[in-house]
Amino acid sequence: MSYCLQCGHKTKKEIPTDDTKLRQVCPQCGYIHYENPKVICGALVIWQEKVLLCKRAIEPRYGYWTLPAGYMELGETMAQGAQRETLEEAEAVVNLEQLYCLYDVPHIGQIYSVFKGTLENGKFGAGIETLESRLFSEDEIPWDELAFPSVKSTLQHYFNDRKTLSFPLHLQTIEQ
Ligand SMILES: [Zn+2]
Repeated sequence: MSYCLQCGHKTKKEIPTDDTKLRQVCPQCGYIHYENPKVICGALVIWQEKVLLCKRAIEPRYGYWTLPAGYMELGETMAQGAQRETLEEAEAVVNLEQLYCLYDVPHIGQIYSVFKGTLENGKFGAGIETLESRLFSEDEIPWDELAFPSVKSTLQHYFNDRKTLSFPLHLQTIEQ
């Protein structure tokens, strides 16, 4: 960012008084542009022992498989975000059961929250950000065509936890 959101003046990178980090600061009006991590909400959607994946119709990772997920919006909870993204990307209604995985991704300033739930009615489709959606059994998962490390890790946790029918919350850091 190089222009002030408040007054439009060019900003300068500096450490504000009583702060310890470099920020974009406006020399004109004094506005400090704090940048903080963004939250991404997604869902691991289960139907009859299979998991719902979406083939991405957008960059990054066009054509790769992902969980329905996206940026949390102001005014919603993480669970609502996961339900909304599932509806938008997979045209599916998910009945959430629990928060299942939480990933810190510090090198890009993101947090991924993944809820586990079941598909309502077994119905799904493909929203505009999705080429196609599909239900995969464990032996059908396209492990080499998954979009992100968090998707791979969530699926690994699920198939592993399913053996004992115990699904604890997995808190994990994804390194660069
Ligand atoms: Zn300004």
